[in-house]
Amino acid sequence: MKTTLKTDWTIRDIVEGFVFDKNEGKGLYGLNGKLTIQPEYQRNYIYDKGGKDVAVIESILKGYPIGLIYFAKVAEDKYEVLDGQQRIGSIGRFVNTTYPFAVPDSDGNPRYFDSLSKDEQNKILNTNLTVYICEGTAQEIQKWFETINIAGVPLNNQELLNASYYGPFVTAARKEFSNSNNANMHKWQTYIKGDPKRQEILATALDWVSKHHVADYMSTHRNDADIEEVKNYFTSVIDWISNLFDYTGKEVRGLPWGDFYEKYHNNSYDKKEINREVSVLMQDYHVQDKKNIFEYLLGNKEHPELLNVRYFDENIKKTKYASQTSFATSMGISNCPVCAAGNNSNKTRIWKYEEMDADHVTAWSKGGATNISNCEMLCKSHNRAKGNR
Ligand SMILES: [Zn+2]
Repeated sequence: MKTTLKTDWTIRDIVEGFVFDKNEGKGLYGLNGKLTIQPEYQRNYIYDKGGKDVAVIESILKGYPIGLIYFAKVAEDKYEVLDGQQRIGSIGRFVNTTYPFAVPDSDGNPRYFDSLSKDEQNKILNTNLTVYICEGTAQEIQKWFETINIAGVPLNNQELLNASYYGPFVTAARKEFSNSNNANMHKWQTYIKGDPKRQEILATALDWVSKHHVADYMSTHRNDADIEEVKNYFTSVIDWISNLFDYTGKEVRGLPWGDFYEKYHNNSYDKKEINREVSVLMQDYHVQDKKNIFEYLLGNKEHPELLNVRYFDENIKKTKYASQTSFATSMGISNCPVCAAGNNSNKTRIWKYEEMDADHVTAWSKGGATNISNCEMLCKSHNRAKGNR
């Protein structure tokens, strides 16, 4: 990637023709139309009124540097902001009178650009910016993004992918999945973790449709304006979950629903029964991994280990060990009931406590409780053998 340093642009140049679309929170232009301040791949404007916006203007008024700014050269005399978008956005909004904000004076009174003295206005407008102009491929620019922090918030993986593959597909996909005002967003966020503005809902939608090959998928569809495939697939998954399970607590959020859909959506489930089981398991204190209840039930309970069932505590095990051992000693048999019933040298062996493990007499998955009346101490090898059945 080639970079050139440019220091002769002033704020006056940059804010010429400044456009800020408040509804979209994006689509800002400057440099008389030659600069796209918020390219498709950038995150939405995140400086808040009175926060960092104010700090940027105060720095300029005090003559402090506001840091390096990076532009990508996208065509002859056409640029996009790579880094500095939020600083330029703040400056543009302050100077431009459409959506202005105020900075406090030393007495705390609000001052808008219009109410500054001519000298102060000129001080701002004549401030030179330090701009690096970068020329390179999308991959080079992505590499570069990975090495910097933007406004102290590193880009996440999906934001980097949006940068690499920006084009009509990213534009359309963001419009659908990155808009917090989308009427479906609340429902989606029941099942998906993350912030739409940070592209995290989009990341999940792409992960599902591409079966975890997001970069390949984005590369293939880069120039499509049509996002029907990802939209339809996403809707199928969400509809499948929400039609099957009534439960909408926090445990359903962020599960790999795309994988579950692929694996299980052709199975038929008794909706009433499966929802009854969800609520029983949710209330069962033996079940430690509540999030896995859904996978356990979708998989017809074939993998009870998913639930990480609570084990017998030390007290129960020691009490049980003592009673089994005293009985076995008096009878002259092994304190492992399976060994005692066998026909080898372990038939009369008294195992040490450390050599035994507790077992559910009636398996937990068949409704057996985790209490002393359902506890039996077995030697480790017999316990393992029983667990594997
Ligand atoms: Zn044994």
